[in-house]
Amino acid sequence: MALIVQKYGGTSVANPERIRKVAERVARFHQQGHQIVVVVSAMSGETDKLIRLAKEVQAVPDPRELDVVIATGEQVTIGLTAMALIAAGVPAVSYTGAQVRILTDESHTKARILEIDQHNMRADLDAGKVVVVAGFQGVNEHGAITTLGRGGSDTTGVALAAALNADECQIYTDVDGVYTTDPRVVPEARRLETVTFEEMLEMASMGSKVLQIRSVEFAGKYKVKLRVLSSFEDKNDGTLITFEEDPNMEKPIISGIAFNRDEAKLSLLGVPDRPGIAFAILGPIGEANIDVDMIIQNTSVDGLTDFSFTVHRNEFAKAMEILDAKIKPEIQAREVRGDNKICKVSLVGVGMRTHAGVASKMFSTLAHEGINIQMISTSEIKTSVVIDEKYMELAVRSLHRAFELDSPGAV
Ligand code: ASP
Ligand code: MG
Repeated sequence: MALIVQKYGGTSVANPERIRKVAERVARFHQQGHQIVVVVSAMSGETDKLIRLAKEVQAVPDPRELDVVIATGEQVTIGLTAMALIAAGVPAVSYTGAQVRILTDESHTKARILEIDQHNMRADLDAGKVVVVAGFQGVNEHGAITTLGRGGSDTTGVALAAALNADECQIYTDVDGVYTTDPRVVPEARRLETVTFEEMLEMASMGSKVLQIRSVEFAGKYKVKLRVLSSFEDKNDGTLITFEEDPNMEKPIISGIAFNRDEAKLSLLGVPDRPGIAFAILGPIGEANIDVDMIIQNTSVDGLTDFSFTVHRNEFAKAMEILDAKIKPEIQAREVRGDNKICKVSLVGVGMRTHAGVASKMFSTLAHEGINIQMISTSEIKTSVVIDEKYMELAVRSLHRAFELDSPGAV
């Protein structure tokens, strides 16, 4: 007998028929003698709808009340899922986040989980019941409903698995695992049998939207055995997120290629090359709560240099404004330039730690396609480039081929 947490995303509970399918799978596991905690998201599209509704009433919704509204999506699906289980002859009971007592901090709409009370869930599991818990929501110490940020049901699933010391946390979704890259861009992309936790973290943070990044961090911290699977077909075991120290794992050099169009580049030209300049530029950007991703500064020959960095595309206008109005005159830079038609393409793989030559192969592949690289950044397990967004698909496809991710033997 194992204790398994199964999380089902919005598309898996999108209508009564799919909810019945979820109940069928849960019933199978239950019949095998496993204890099951089911975590569900709201029906797909529901949270968006609730946010729109809130904004129609108050343009910038009060955060506490917004959480009250958007947490209702999951309250509907826990009730329906429990009903479908009961109808299938499986004893089941639903819980909101507050009923479990998933205690979070105070930050409405992006709360962090502090503590999970297992008491009630344990009693029901021990009584042979399936426990159905609302994803995405918790309660703060004043009893107010909080939510965990978009996609937060993944985090609920992993957090419950950690708290209950579950044998496995299974994330059921509309894809059957983690792929070498987005199959919509590269049809040859393959499902990975395993991906390490660190690789997943890189991929999740760079636009591979299979798992909410916080859930991956959580899984890493508490060593939760995490698996991503399809809720529509049972034909394979999905992708297991492993820990690198797992023995007997022959790691490929590159596991996957992530990309995103969410970034924008800003440059200051003709910047005096002296101490304090990076702070003079990025200080005010940080104060405005704008996160910076890549940063490049050249060394100067004539005392003047260029300084470039990237931010999320949503913050592009705000960052440009700060550069133009405040920083440029202050440090007497010559010119401000911005480009929000860029994309970032990254090779990810723990094998890079022990293999040289990944970056140069990446650059030669892009050069061969005539793609200009605007910025480069590297870490132990990742090499990223910024390029013109119109070359994104070409870049991803040619890299996928060059690193032999197309071929089945590469897993
Ligand atoms: N329903 C929430 C959302 O759409 C949480 C989730 O689906 O994970 O973001
Ligand atoms: Mg999701």
